[in-house]
Amino acid sequence: MKKILAFSLSALAASAALAQAFPSKPITIVVPFAAGGPTDRVARDLAEAMQKSLNGTTIVIDNAAGAGSTIGTTKVARAKNDGYTLLVTHVGMATTPVLYRKLSYNYETDFEYLGMINDVPMTLIGRPTLEANTFAELRDWIGKNGNKVNLGNAGIGSASHLCGTLFQSELKVEMTTVPYKGTAPAIADLLGGQIDLLCDQTTNTTAQIEGKKVKPYAVTMLKRLSTPALKDIPTLDEQGLKNFQVSIWHALYAPKGTPADVLKTLNEALKSALKDPDFVRKQEGLGAIVIADKRVDPAEHKKFVQSEVARFGPVFKAAGIYAD
Ligand code: ASP
Repeated sequence: MKKILAFSLSALAASAALAQAFPSKPITIVVPFAAGGPTDRVARDLAEAMQKSLNGTTIVIDNAAGAGSTIGTTKVARAKNDGYTLLVTHVGMATTPVLYRKLSYNYETDFEYLGMINDVPMTLIGRPTLEANTFAELRDWIGKNGNKVNLGNAGIGSASHLCGTLFQSELKVEMTTVPYKGTAPAIADLLGGQIDLLCDQTTNTTAQIEGKKVKPYAVTMLKRLSTPALKDIPTLDEQGLKNFQVSIWHALYAPKGTPADVLKTLNEALKSALKDPDFVRKQEGLGAIVIADKRVDPAEHKKFVQSEVARFGPVFKAAGIYAD
């Protein structure tokens, strides 16, 4: 009898030690876009900040890019739910359920919502050799060139696709859209003149604008931005596209069924990362706004994504866009 008791006590102690041990090995954050782009950038900065409150545990980034974020998102939906595989993605979590007729994940039931990270404005930028120097000149140029204008994006359901779709429907012009696996390869082609225009997050366009490597035409918020390199760029709203506003958010997820205590540890690490002065400084320097409201809580995060799905449905329906 004594023996059995001793055994079950030690088994209990062992399982408690196991439960407390999270994290006891490196964590992987899957980024569903190419390395060097905005989502990758946010994930890498976040990983660095989260490591501090996870006893220095290494967090590695796995870029599973393609198909407008759906490849990497599927990878996490099917990953082992032990807290060692996480997902950082953006507004694509809310646009893909609306856009894709067949999706191999369910945004509501296949994930644990861990909290939101940031809101990021976008910028409309052009290749350096584009003859238009202002938004008014750009409108004329688009008017003359119509569907010969090459507008890059990071695939159907990406942030740049969302911005580009709204932009084309506002101007009532159908351009040629060119999909990439992320912003990094799209910007490389914009710099090389293979595409004409791109609407993308400030996290990656700020340095290009500052270095005068691309032509900036507008920001996508209703108010001008305060980031020094971006503060003189007019909004689309003030240049005639009334109420044009797109801001992109990023957030953190785990596969459904990840143990509650592990989720709690991860959510606490996320919350302290969002208050980390280094993380906040880096994000603000790139025009991003770190989330400091209730959306860092899992339930509020999920509610917010559901409200975004409801918001984008009619937008894409009206534009007649869908993917298989
Ligand atoms: N900014 C990209 C998009 O348009 C994705 C990325 O590379 O982060 O969705």
